[in-house]
Amino acid sequence: MTEAEGSWICADGLPRLVLRSGRERSALRRHPWIFSGAVAGVDGAPAPGAMVRVESSEGETLGIGQWSPQSQIRVRMVAFGQDARFSCAARLGAAVAARMPLLSSGETDACRLVNAEADGLPGVVVDKYADWAVCQFNTAGAIALRGEIARRLTELLPLKGIFWRPDADMLRREGVEAKPETLAGAEPPGRIEITENGIRYHVDVREGHKTGFYLDQRENRRIVAGMAAGRDVLNVFSYTGGFGLAALGGGAESALNVDVSAPALALAAENAELNGFSGGRFQCVEGNAFEVLRKYRDSRRDFGMVVLDPPKFADSKGAVQGAARGYKDINLLAMKLLRPGGLLATFSCSGAITPEIFGKIVAEAAVDAGAGFTVLRRLWQAGDHAESLSFPEGLYLKGLLLRRD
Ligand code: SAH
Repeated sequence: MTEAEGSWICADGLPRLVLRSGRERSALRRHPWIFSGAVAGVDGAPAPGAMVRVESSEGETLGIGQWSPQSQIRVRMVAFGQDARFSCAARLGAAVAARMPLLSSGETDACRLVNAEADGLPGVVVDKYADWAVCQFNTAGAIALRGEIARRLTELLPLKGIFWRPDADMLRREGVEAKPETLAGAEPPGRIEITENGIRYHVDVREGHKTGFYLDQRENRRIVAGMAAGRDVLNVFSYTGGFGLAALGGGAESALNVDVSAPALALAAENAELNGFSGGRFQCVEGNAFEVLRKYRDSRRDFGMVVLDPPKFADSKGAVQGAARGYKDINLLAMKLLRPGGLLATFSCSGAITPEIFGKIVAEAAVDAGAGFTVLRRLWQAGDHAESLSFPEGLYLKGLLLRRD
């Protein structure tokens, strides 16, 4: 069925969900989440993921949402206003079209095609790795759309296969369990090769982190590569070697990669070979970054560039204080390892740590390190990890590129 044939859903005729009095503000501001406490009642018992018409307590239609009976976020809005309409096909088409300039630029053959709420498809993540798409459906509403999404994707792009890699933690909040599944075409191989900014990477979409690769750092890997020439780079929290390989591609003298995960480092070594970086220019150290950095500090090692890309230290506002200590510790240690003129690319992917808080933490670390730093650049998630103005939660990755004075 094409769009013109009527795949649009209108608010009329959908089961009605009524908000409590005074709880319509977020829907009026086009924020996509409605929490359980804001819901006064719903007509009948809609199936998980079903579309509902959201009404204010006064009976005004506020839009269309997807019903998540088990989640604290009870409804995800997909369209707003009295005349709200929703078409999964139209949303998907717009999301893919928005990535076409990137894909045809030759910069990469891997990117995020659909970034959930920011692309108007709550809970839906679609990452493209060369000829393969890897999806996550993180809400009941997203799961309900998976068949249509897989079908439409095969119409939009020449894909060999579409794989669903469930995120168990996200799905637990929806009271759902799911196993990995091939939704269309062939099963993906154990390794998919992608090329990003001229560097080749093997991606393991079954066992790797997220859907297999940290696509959100693509632009920052390019920026780091552009500053790396002649430098000895320490790549902390390296995963499968991303920043280290990018730096070598940009002419770095060497890249020393630190990660706690042996499988990630094994793939990093494989990736170094794939790109022909040999002769000891690419090295890996398995260990806890906090301990490894302390050891380097104590033995007075120094570097021309350090990359710090830790995992999410805070997954809620309540965890910010503890996380701040962790961020400050590693940043202080990294700063002490930098020679004057050395560069630090430092990141936080915790949504609860705002850019302002992150800036303060890093500034505190610099005070304790007793050195001045210049901000060369502020860094963000790559543009394909789209962000919506009415959904600020979608901005999670922020970073700073600093030069030690
Ligand atoms: N920069 C990478 C992505 C990093 S993701 C890229 O561009 O692809 C964060 C990494 O931190 C993961 O690989 C995880 O294994 C690693 N990690 C988590 N805790 C760690 C710790 N305490 N010490 C070292 N590595 C850790």
